[in-house]
Amino acid sequence: MNVLVAGGAGYIGSHTAKALAAAGYTPVVFDSLEKGHEDAVRWGPLIKADLADRDALRRVFAGYSIEGVIHFAAYIAVGESMKEPVRYFRNNVANTLNLLEAMVAAGVRSIVFSSTAAVYGDPETVPIAEDHPYRPVSAYGETKLMVERMLAWFDTCHGIASARLRYFNAAGADPDGETGEDHEPETHLVPLALAAAAGKRAHLDLFGTDYPTPDGTCIRDYIHVTDLAHAHVLALKHLQRSSQSFTANLGTGSGFSVREVLRAVERVVGRPVPVVEKSRREGDPASLVADSTRARELLGWTPTHSSIDEIVATAWRWYSRAR
Ligand code: UDP
Repeated sequence: MNVLVAGGAGYIGSHTAKALAAAGYTPVVFDSLEKGHEDAVRWGPLIKADLADRDALRRVFAGYSIEGVIHFAAYIAVGESMKEPVRYFRNNVANTLNLLEAMVAAGVRSIVFSSTAAVYGDPETVPIAEDHPYRPVSAYGETKLMVERMLAWFDTCHGIASARLRYFNAAGADPDGETGEDHEPETHLVPLALAAAAGKRAHLDLFGTDYPTPDGTCIRDYIHVTDLAHAHVLALKHLQRSSQSFTANLGTGSGFSVREVLRAVERVVGRPVPVVEKSRREGDPASLVADSTRARELLGWTPTHSSIDEIVATAWRWYSRAR
């Protein structure tokens, strides 16, 4: 059974392509390679094209018998979205409309969408459940919320069932070492801390030590990318079984401070992480932790790779591979 994976050459997309193949699906990757990596496409064909290209979309649905779609293709840098909102709304929102248009034309009735905890903005209550108010504090978060809302209308108007999966902090790498995280530029804590421990960067900037948390640094819910990938397969199966749209948070329900993550990096690498304490990064809430009860109950999903040490150890193995 063919599944179109838009953005399947990227970080979470490539792990999901692997999980799809393990579950007996063929991931048909549709990726412009603007951000994705050709060598991360290993479990099915690659169509090198952009979601802006409506003809390419029509062709892929005509050429493959596509049973469902998983959509990762988007720009993801929060800071950049505040400087260049046009690019973010065009790519993340308008281009998703092209994908939905092609799905309607081809009669494809299920889509799993890569959403984010950024739709909530500064949390009023932690852990955060799906009915928490939506107040994104970045253009990036707004683009994801807009797509979630579009998806609800495509269910009403065209019977397309959607799973809106709101990730907390994706981290780690494939335990078999076949794919991992390669962002350019890198902005995420775990790979930057590994680079600092490895001596590839002079130090890690620690953004904010005066938060109202036990050690003064931000708390996040780190979820292993392989656990995220598995949730996408379960979500697709759920849609195909029930045709019922749903929204679900994906996190572990446990928070770790930046300092706790740095200690895990030091344990795994066996070297200190040189740190320079900086002021807060704009837009960072003090604490983001998921209530993932819905994903557990609806999908039967349980994270199995998401201890902080396994997250860091798999990321380190990927980081230190022969390049
Ligand atoms: N962070 C940091 N230094 C960095 C990158 C991140 O102190 O160089 C902190 C950041 O402030 C946040 C946490 O690490 O509290 C996770 O940030 P990341 O960018 O990995 O993910 P985000 O929470 O923005 O999705």
